[in-house]
Amino acid sequence: MIVMKFGGTSTKDAAAMLNVTEIVKSRTSKNPVVVISAIAQATNQLETMGSLSKSNKAAEAKKVLKYFIDEHLAIVETVGLKPDTQDKIRTKIFSYSEEILEIITGVSILRELTPQTLDRFYSYGELLSSYIISEVMKENGIDTVWLDTKDFMVTDNTFTEAKPNMPVVEEKLRPLALKLIEEKKVIVTQGFIGVTPTGERTTMGRESSDFSAAVIGAVLDVDDVQIWTDVDGVLSGDPNIIEHPKKIKELSFEEAFQLSLFGAKVLHPNTMIPAAEKNIPIHVYNSKRPKISGTLISNTSSSSATSDSIIKSVTYKSQVSLLNIKPTNRFSPYIFWENIFSILNKYKVVPIVTSTSEYQFAVAIETKYMLDSIKTELSTLGEVEELGNLCLISLMGQKINHNSTIVQNVFSVLSSIKFHFISFGASEMSMSILINEEDTKPVVRSIHKLFFEGETDSKIFEEIR
Ligand code: ADP
Ligand code: ASP
Ligand code: MG
Repeated sequence: MIVMKFGGTSTKDAAAMLNVTEIVKSRTSKNPVVVISAIAQATNQLETMGSLSKSNKAAEAKKVLKYFIDEHLAIVETVGLKPDTQDKIRTKIFSYSEEILEIITGVSILRELTPQTLDRFYSYGELLSSYIISEVMKENGIDTVWLDTKDFMVTDNTFTEAKPNMPVVEEKLRPLALKLIEEKKVIVTQGFIGVTPTGERTTMGRESSDFSAAVIGAVLDVDDVQIWTDVDGVLSGDPNIIEHPKKIKELSFEEAFQLSLFGAKVLHPNTMIPAAEKNIPIHVYNSKRPKISGTLISNTSSSSATSDSIIKSVTYKSQVSLLNIKPTNRFSPYIFWENIFSILNKYKVVPIVTSTSEYQFAVAIETKYMLDSIKTELSTLGEVEELGNLCLISLMGQKINHNSTIVQNVFSVLSSIKFHFISFGASEMSMSILINEEDTKPVVRSIHKLFFEGETDSKIFEEIR
């Protein structure tokens, strides 16, 4: 059994859906469970509907809804389905559209968009794309069964950042899936969305369909979790900034986790957790070039066995602020730190890097959190200074701090750049530098050039042709 997850770019239009169908068809002997994301931009459109409704702009929210529905209808009309099947899907689309309309009306009357309601908006992206593609596959010779995650992906009730309850997911999904697979059915379901024990829709964080795939893979003990996206695999740098990144052939779970945590968008960091626990390999493949080998993420990465220092990629995380807190009361640093962490916890902040000295605490956090409220609360503990518009650049690899030349070379690139913070990950796998946001592109490019231009180790990297 395998899990195959397809992201938004792989399902964005009729041609993309037919392409996914072919990829799945050629692998039906492996008993795939297919996990589908919303079509490109759909989740953002649903979010916009939510915020417009909250601002009492229901008419504008309805315009976005119409655009969203029309995009899905256009796929149904152009993907080559029989008229009856088209009618069946249209009925489903219109019934979801009615539900969204009701939520828009409700939110614009109350002028309040709770995380719970936002999750209801979000859920329609994955529900629609997975339903349409399941029908497309069925008509193209794959015996699919569409499963609503409401029937198995049980999570806690932390809306927008829900955590799956693994034993419950296993108890619900395993018997269902094993029976369907025995009947030679191909399950098609949704990434990203889950359900509380009382039946309310949840989501597990933006971009978390990869994580859904790993959760499903872990509870079903599959042989492989395949993440199908629009690039050849995990690359040495973001292809949106780097002209010629190299493909990384293999990564360990820990390396892949660190790399995504520090900004490589290709995988959601949580993906590696259930896969590592069950030791299930993850492959990252390109749905536009299905024949090439992709990147393998597993517990054995050839390079982790060597004693040499290796840099595998350069990543960056934008929209970061550095908060410096100096206590007003200097009687106990422990209480000071404890109070800081309880405030960060309250706002569910995951600090990117921190530094503690006896009477000062610095923390880099993403500006997506409620920064003003966090600063106000922290200022009850001491003087808070914010340095905004920053970007965290990270090098990811093995035994980085064993080789002083690496550090020296990085600093030679940074000689004319202002940097605010530098930290080495405890695992020796990463080194991070906080710089001004405006310097991001030149710095990322120079660091990439430093380590990846010209000949690289062919056991680790592959040229993209
Ligand atoms: P999907 O919709 O399939 O989930 P995402 O957009 O979430 O796809 O992730 C794939 C994108 O991640 C690529 O198109 C690429 O632009 C971006 N990306 C950023 N850094 C990296 C990296 N180091 N390796 C591969 N892709 C990266
Ligand atoms: N559709 C969701 C999002 O855009 C989940 C995902 O794509 O992974 O965040
Ligand atoms: Mg993604």
